[in-house]
Amino acid sequence: AAKERGKNKFYVYTQELHNEYSRRLEIENALREAVENEQFEIFYQPIIDVKTGHVASLEALIRWNRPEYGFVSPTEFIPIAEETGQIISIGRWVARSVCRQIKNWQQLGYSLVPISINVSGMDFQLPDFMERFKEIVNEGEIDPKWIEIEITESALMNDIQHAMQTLKDLKEMGVRCAMDDFGTGYSSLSYLRKFPVDKLKIDRSFVKDISNQENQAILRNIIQLARNLRLLVVAEGVETQEELRFLQSEMCDYVQGYLYSQPISAAGIEDRFLK
Ligand code: C2E
Ligand code: MG
Ligand code: MG
Ligand code: MG
Repeated sequence: AAKERGKNKFYVYTQELHNEYSRRLEIENALREAVENEQFEIFYQPIIDVKTGHVASLEALIRWNRPEYGFVSPTEFIPIAEETGQIISIGRWVARSVCRQIKNWQQLGYSLVPISINVSGMDFQLPDFMERFKEIVNEGEIDPKWIEIEITESALMNDIQHAMQTLKDLKEMGVRCAMDDFGTGYSSLSYLRKFPVDKLKIDRSFVKDISNQENQAILRNIIQLARNLRLLVVAEGVETQEELRFLQSEMCDYVQGYLYSQPISAAGIEDRFLK
């Protein structure tokens, strides 16, 4: 009987691998069409200044509405797009769309806030990233001060020399940078001190269990670290009043999360925050 079970287990295992593989292949093919057929949309999530309660900036988050399937999570398709190289054209689409949105809101006379774009580490590490990014911002005819870039801690630590130079170039250009998902990578603190970033975004996982003493200690320490390095600090994934109160008492600069707003469409942002 044990042997039988073992066999079944093996069967289930290969079946799972197979399913995962065909799902990936399917997504890869569908993504090819998605880029061409405008199946993407950008949602925006406000980032709130804890002291004033005002919207300080917006994070641009891609949404893929796949015909006949509905929304596919970026946590599923972004890693696939990174492996296939499709992330380059997706990243270009996102940056162009954000530039267009900034220009549009400006022309409508809304008082703008900066918009942050998530840049894949795979894209960021390419030698021509800066050149391509500059070109998009130039063509978008917007002041780069309205754009911020979010790049994960691990992507920055991957190639420190390149990251250092690219961050310098971005700063020179007037684009602010935030280190995303902070606390989940393996930052060398000595490099962190030298990186010309403006913000740390504390990963959602540390905010989630705020009653947990260890998470409280981690949050406190990251906020302190940011303060000592003269960086601004954002807490992601704030869902409850209790979480907000704790972050407030620890003097976290900004919060972002469902408590205030989910990511919503550009029209939603206009209605709720810009009008
Ligand atoms: P991220 O950059 O860390 O974005 C934060 C994620 O947390 C978003 O998920 C957001 O919807 C979610 N979130 C915000 N507040 C809350 C909350 O209170 N509770 C919970 N449970 N979640 C919250 P989303 O939009 O699914 O994106 C997931 C990840 O996919 C992003 O993580 C980012 O790494 C990547 N991503 C999204 N859009 C883009 C894009 O345009 N380009 C690239 N390269 N990556 C993107
Ligand atoms: Mg982000
Ligand atoms: Mg994040
Ligand atoms: Mg994340």
